[in-house]
Amino acid sequence: MVRGIVPRQPAKTGRHEGARIERSPRKTGGLRPVRPGQIPAPTQAKKMPQERRAKGYGPLAPERIAEILKRLDQLYPDATCALTHRSAWELLVATILSAQSTDVNVNRVTPELFRKYPTVADFAALTPEQLEPDVRSTGFFRNKSKSVVGAAKKVVSEFGGQVPDDIDKLLTLPGVARKTANVVLGTWFRKAEGVVVDTHVTRIARRLELSKNTDAPKIEQDLMKVIPREKWILFAHQIIWHGRKLCIARRPKCVDCALENICHAGDKTWSTVEIHKNAKL
Ligand code: SF4
Repeated sequence: MVRGIVPRQPAKTGRHEGARIERSPRKTGGLRPVRPGQIPAPTQAKKMPQERRAKGYGPLAPERIAEILKRLDQLYPDATCALTHRSAWELLVATILSAQSTDVNVNRVTPELFRKYPTVADFAALTPEQLEPDVRSTGFFRNKSKSVVGAAKKVVSEFGGQVPDDIDKLLTLPGVARKTANVVLGTWFRKAEGVVVDTHVTRIARRLELSKNTDAPKIEQDLMKVIPREKWILFAHQIIWHGRKLCIARRPKCVDCALENICHAGDKTWSTVEIHKNAKL
């Protein structure tokens, strides 16, 4: 070794010659747009100090709500219920079966189910145990069998074999809570009595700061206050579609999302706007 020339040691700071220096999130404000083709890295953005938030920002401001609705209309103009059905009864059964399952999974089961038991009276004549094998693949099949058979018996005995188009009556059926009742009323009867709140609506209502609540009944009340009634049915379908397509639970596809610059969700994967840490589940 030539005297005076000492082999380079790695710097104690962790930096060394030629190393690429990433700008810290503090310097970039935590916002680092991703170039086309680049896989977006999770945003490390921190909550902006209150004084640096956009002046006058209000998540529930009518102009913001109108903009969200406008963009959803452009994205999903024909959003509707993805559960296959030909009657209010079939939709009721499919919705009960869809709990903790996917619509695709339910749609695999129901055609054969309704071929085997074509009427409400056919279901009412069953015991839950008899129905179990037919709905097993949708999960939680014992409870679901009990609900479907119980609902059928009540529809036959108290409502003359017709699914009622009244929310209070629907809510008396076994296995029917507000989500199922709203699906049947909105999709089949075209009656807006509430907003369907499922797992997608829960997540996205929080990400878009339309609700700070975590339980479905409170989220529904929050949405009913800010979404115009004539939009309740379509809005829920649009949000559900958005939740399936882009605003998925883990690593939402924010880089492709048309709502991106009006969404401050705390778990965005890419952002051009400030992040609001609590706007997530
Ligand atoms: S920007 Fe991301 S988090 Fe916000 S709505 Fe779109 S996909 Fe969801």
